[in-house]
Parts: sequence; structure tokens; C-alpha cells
Amino acid sequence: MSAEATNPATPGPMTPGAQRRRGRPRIDLRRLGRAALLGPTARDRLPDAIGHVAEAHRAHHPDADLDPLRRAYVLAESSHRGQMRKSGEPYITHPLAVTLILAELGAETTTLTASLLHDTVEDTEVTLDQVREEFGEEVRYLVDGVTKLEKVDYGAAAEPETFRKMLVATGSDVRVMSIKLADRLHNMRTLGVMRPEKQERIAKVTKDVLIPLAERLGVQALKTELEDLVFAILHPGEYAHTRELIVSNASRGDDPLAEVAEEVRAVLREAGLQAEVLIRPRHFVSVHRVSRKRGELRGADFGRLLVLVNEDADCYGVLGELHTCLTPVVSEFKDFIAVPKFNLYQSLHTAVARPDGQVVEVLIRTHQMHKVAEAGVIALGNPYAPPSEEPVDGERADPTRPGWLSRLLDWQEAAPDPDTFWSTLREDLAQDREITVFRPDGGTLGLPAGASCVDAAYAQYGEDAHACIGARVNGRLATLSTVLSDGDTVQLLMGQDPTSEPSREWLEHAHTPVARIAITRWLAAHPSPATPPEAPAATPRPSADGPAARPAAADVVVDQPGATVRLAGCCTPVPPDAVTGFSVRGGVVTVHRVACAAVARMKGAGRAEVDVRWGDTTECRVTLVAESFGRPHLLADLTEAIALEGVAIVSATVEPPSQQRVRHTYTLQLPDAAHLPALMRAMRNVPGVFDVSRAQHPATAP
Ligand code: MN
Repeated sequence: MSAEATNPATPGPMTPGAQRRRGRPRIDLRRLGRAALLGPTARDRLPDAIGHVAEAHRAHHPDADLDPLRRAYVLAESSHRGQMRKSGEPYITHPLAVTLILAELGAETTTLTASLLHDTVEDTEVTLDQVREEFGEEVRYLVDGVTKLEKVDYGAAAEPETFRKMLVATGSDVRVMSIKLADRLHNMRTLGVMRPEKQERIAKVTKDVLIPLAERLGVQALKTELEDLVFAILHPGEYAHTRELIVSNASRGDDPLAEVAEEVRAVLREAGLQAEVLIRPRHFVSVHRVSRKRGELRGADFGRLLVLVNEDADCYGVLGELHTCLTPVVSEFKDFIAVPKFNLYQSLHTAVARPDGQVVEVLIRTHQMHKVAEAGVIALGNPYAPPSEEPVDGERADPTRPGWLSRLLDWQEAAPDPDTFWSTLREDLAQDREITVFRPDGGTLGLPAGASCVDAAYAQYGEDAHACIGARVNGRLATLSTVLSDGDTVQLLMGQDPTSEPSREWLEHAHTPVARIAITRWLAAHPSPATPPEAPAATPRPSADGPAARPAAADVVVDQPGATVRLAGCCTPVPPDAVTGFSVRGGVVTVHRVACAAVARMKGAGRAEVDVRWGDTTECRVTLVAESFGRPHLLADLTEAIALEGVAIVSATVEPPSQQRVRHTYTLQLPDAAHLPALMRAMRNVPGVFDVSRAQHPATAP
């Protein structure tokens, strides 16, 4: 059986003329949707009401058990009974139409069952528990996922929070979003009864959120119809103009698309290639786009040819014949079979030129590819597959949990409030092109076009990316601001210091919400008390207070001239650490790293912070801990490595080995703080040493 016979949602092999007169590619869906709307809903006519749904469902799933659909319909119909839509129709027409849309696209029985019930919990006495008891946990989960949050409880945040809830639910089961998209499509089809302001508001959310989601989930059939409905509401003038163009083109005598289609059929017949050649009229938005691009439209601009074949290999066979026997426009050739788009779409795209100069675009795909192109995850996702525990590498690794969805779920958790979530979601979805970069370990990262190394760092490491110190792009050292291209190999260099800090400047290069939110959050939690190290500073004065006192790289405190500065032994700050100070006895100010636990403790105790900043003296003292596997000569090798770096050892402690592991703690005097990373690297290179880090606690442990 061909896809044409099993999938009434796809344009059947009707004559080009008949299809073009209809003017809209999605006409079959709409016709059937209307049939469901008009269908009788009285109990004695029950089989008729659900009949269209059952028929469409059986066409895709011949063995489907229709009993859950009947039961769901009975419950939905009886509980919605008496409720009317704004249009005056019985409410049940809505869930029926939504379910029919999904059935047409090939959704499986559980989705359809939940779709019939999708508004019951929100609008009727039916409870989620009842849904679970009668239809099982999966149906309950789906119904819950699409149920709106109460405006009374959430106020203005109700809509953003509802979407957030829906996205989270979609992360575990993509069918939630399938139902939501079909629900929105039917609501958009019947939006005419609403006040114009409300129509516009709903159309805008549809444009910003639902349409990009439909595209990313590959549900082309829903996406194109939603686009046209939004177009008609938001740009009525241009919509009317486009309609005129389409109508007047259809009334023209000649049809270049039909002529080329005939030619193509002949060529393929000759070559012995079995294929269906169809004409796909462009939807309104597509015609509008083409007319903006090309100015005046010619007949061939109003549609494209679609060549459907049985086997993948036949696609290339067809391509070869077209390129040999017709005049190909090679610049239009794209291979989305070898290099599929992020949303599962696969096809060959090419174009052929007619003798009169008109260019006809041709799409070549198998029936299976066509089904996926139209219905996306609704047709493809295996909803019963357990959610993958592994992080998603490629965009195609798991069609039901694509990479972009994982990223979206990552940052939504960190979004501090509904407004930020809502505006960031729209922004994220507006970034429609994606790139794939490779990690040295062979994994991949999917990022929006324009993403930088900062974005890659946060995509890979989450908040641990705060410790990123640089990157290699295609083997070369690169700054974190480097914008990545599709196919780049990116190795992120991570600092070993767990208290490393992101730079405010990173925000300028952060393109993705996950990076921006993480950096902004960190900066908000760490208001910087220190100005940059290049700030001019007064001469530091040594303190007489204790062994840590020394000619410090820290400034004399701006608002306390002459104060003695002591770098805290607990966190041994060095430039350019962000630092803060506290006055202690005797006019001494101790300087801590802002991330030091002592800072939190003192602030918690109500101690006032003192503004401090680094001076231009770069000599510094630091305490390093080297974790190693015990072996002979380790101490000698380590101290030699330190000495070779020109660093003086102030003190050293070696703890007794435990389980073959030894910890050496060195307090060191560096001539230049900037030398610290090189020193730590040199120490790490000593055989047996597996980690070198800055001390978090007093060098002499209590
Ligand atoms: Mn609904």
C-alpha cells in the first residue's frame, strides 16, 4: 500500500489542476476537520461522531484497538455536554477535531485517547485520578501535560508557566506537544469568533512559540497551516494580496508546473524508475516569501514538484535522470538525505529550468521520508521507548528527545521567573538554524547558528563552565569569544580551580539561554567588590600581624588610607581573583576571595565588607595542594619542579599516605601572579601527581 493510500493528510494523486484550484496544500485536513465538526454528537449517533477518527486511525494502524477511543469519547462527550464553544457549537466538536488532526497524521492510539480527553480535566468535573483509573498512567500524563494552569492561581504568569510545564512534560513524552499543536491548530482555525485583540494575541504566541516548535518537531503539515492562519490575522492586507496572486495564477490557461511534471513522468518512465510525480502548491506564506524574493511571480513559482519513490537509492536515480535529461539549476541542489536537517526532514532538493527561463523546484523523497516530512515526530517517535539516560549527542540521536529540546529543558530550569522564561523561550525559538560542532572525544554538540565557545562551554559543562579558561577550535588556540561554524572541532580547556569565575565580558559572547542565564545568575550572586587589576593602587604596606603579613599584591584599601592589608590564609587570593575585604583588629584589613566560605560566614554575621582591589605589584603568595600517588622521590621531584619555575617555597607539609595517596601542601612565593597557571601545570606534570589545586582551607589544617 502506498503512503498516498494510507495517509489522507498528504495530497493524493489528484490531477494538478484540481489540486491547484483548491489553492491550499492542507485542504484535505481541513475538509475532514470540518466533517468532524459538523458530525452529529447525540449519543445514538456515537459511531458516526468518532467514525472519522476511527477511519483515519485504522488507515495508519490497521490493528489498532478502537475501544479506548470509544470510551474516551463517551467520557468526554458526557462531561462536556451542555458546554458550548464561542462559535455556538457543542464543545465536544473541539476535542474531536483535534483528535482527527492527529489521527490523520498517524498518531498512535494513546495520543488519540488523551487528545479526546485533553480539555476534560480543565473544564469539567473529570479528575486526573479518574483518567488514570480508566485509561492508565500514560493517558493521565498526557492529559496533565496539556492542561493549563489556573489563571486564578498564577495570574499573569499563567500562560508562561503553562508553557513551561508543557515543555517539561514534553521532555519526557513528546506526545504532549503533539496534542498541544493540534489543539492550537483547531483553535486557530476557529479563531474568527474572538475579539480582534484576542485573535492577535493568540496569533502572536502561535507565531513565536508554537510554529517554531512544530518546525523543530518536524510537523510540517501543522506548521504550514498554522503559518497561513497567523498570516491572515497579523497581516490581513498582504494575505489578501497573496490570495489574489494565487487566484489569478490559477485562472491562467497554461501551467508550467503541470507541463514539467508530464516531462518528468516521461523521463522516469523511460528510465524504468517507479515514481509518483505530484504538484505541491506552495502555502500562502511561502508564495508571499517567494514574491518578496523574486518580485513578480511566474507560474512555476506557485508550487513545486514532489517525486515520491519507494527506496532511498531511487532518490538518487531520479536525480540522475533529471539532471541528465532536463536542464538542472545546480546551485539549487541540496542533499538533505545524506545531511538531514535537525528536525528529521529528509529529501533531495533540486531545480530544473524550462526553455522560457522559468525555474521549477523539485523535491525527491521516499514515501517514508514524505510521511516524516509531513508528520515529523508524530509519525516517527517511538513513544514507548524508555527515555535515554545518556546525554543526547547528535540532534538525531533520539527523535523524541532532540538536542534542542534538552537544551531548552536545561535552561528553563535556571530561568529565575516566568517573564525571563517567556522572553528567552521566544528568543531561543527564533534562532532557527542549528550547527553541529565536534568534541575531541567524538561526541557532538548542537548549537544555534552564531554560537561562540562560551556557548559550547555551557552547553557541555553547565555551570561548571565557569571554570573554562580557553578553547582550541580545529586544533588552534582560540579565545572564548570565537564564533563557531558548522563542523568545527572544539576542545574546551577547563581550569582546575573549582572557584573559577566567569567573566562579565562572556555575556557579550553568550548566544544561548543556558549560557546567558548561568553567567547572569553567577554575576548576580557575586557582585564584584574589586575593580580590575589594572586599576591604579597606592603602595601596599606590610602588616606586622602574623606570618601571612607581607608586601602584598593587594591595594591599601581605598576608603581607609594607610590600613594594613593581609591576604587571608584560608583562600590565599592572587590576582586577578575577585576579592573582598573585612576590617579586623588593629586597623588590619584581611582580603579574601569572594567565593571563600569565610566571606559568607562573616557576611552572615553582619560584618561590613571593605572595598579592595588589586594593586600593580604582581608578587604573590599562594598555597597549593598537590594530590599524588605515593612513590619514592615524589617530594624531591615536586620541589624541583617548583624551583625550576623560579618559585620560592615558604613552607611545605606532607600528610601521611592513606590508600596509596599522598597530599603535599606548599605555601609558595611567586614573583608574578600571572605565573600561577604555568606553575600548576608544571607540578601536575610530575609523574604520580593527579591534581594540583589552590588550598580552600588554612594550610595548617586544624
Ligand atoms: Mn483544547
